[in-house]
Amino acid sequence: MRISDDRYSRDRLRLDLALRFIHHEARTRTIRAWTGLTDDRIRKLYKSYFDRPGATAVPRPRGRSPQQASFFTRTPRVRQEAALLASLCSLLGAFPPRRPPRAGLAHPGFGFAQGLALCQAYEAYRTLVPAARISFEHMIYLFSALTRGDELRLVACAGCGALLVSERMALREARCLSCASLLADREAGVGASAGD
Ligand SMILES: [Zn+2]
Repeated sequence: MRISDDRYSRDRLRLDLALRFIHHEARTRTIRAWTGLTDDRIRKLYKSYFDRPGATAVPRPRGRSPQQASFFTRTPRVRQEAALLASLCSLLGAFPPRRPPRAGLAHPGFGFAQGLALCQAYEAYRTLVPAARISFEHMIYLFSALTRGDELRLVACAGCGALLVSERMALREARCLSCASLLADREAGVGASAGD
C-alpha cells in the first residue's frame, strides 16, 4: 500500500511539473529530461490539457534548444535579465549545494524540487520583467551552464556585490549596469580634470 502511495504521489509530481513546463513552452526533450515522462505521455498530457476547445493555446516549440552561452552576455539588457533570473534561481534554492558529479550532461539528473524552483523563478522573472527577453528554454540552458560551470559562472559585482552572470574566461572584472556607469562617470571626470 505504502509503495503504491509513494508511486502515486511521485507520478502526480511528475505530471504537475510537466504541465508547468508545457505552460512555459518547454520543449518535449526538456520535459522528458526533467520529469522522466515518455514522449508519448507528454504528447497525451499536452493534448488532454491544452488541445481542447476553450483551453488557452500554448504554442508547442519545435527544433533545437538554445545552445549558446554568449546569448546571456551579449547585450547589457540581457546581461541584466540573466543576472536577475540567476539571482531568483539562487534565492528559490534551484542550484544544487555542490556541482553534480556527472558534469557535462545537459540535465544532470536534477530532482522535482529543482524543477519546481525553476518554474517559480521564471514566473517571478516574468512578473518583474513584462517584456522579458529570456525564454524558459533559455533559462534551462542558463541554469545548466551555471551548474556545470564550464561556460558561464556566477560572480559578484566588483562594485556592489550583486550576483552577475559572467563568461567563464572573462578577463575584466564584472560590474552591474549601475556600477559600470558610475565607474565610467568617475573615469570621464578624472579624464576631464586631467585635461583642464
Ligand atoms: Zn554593482
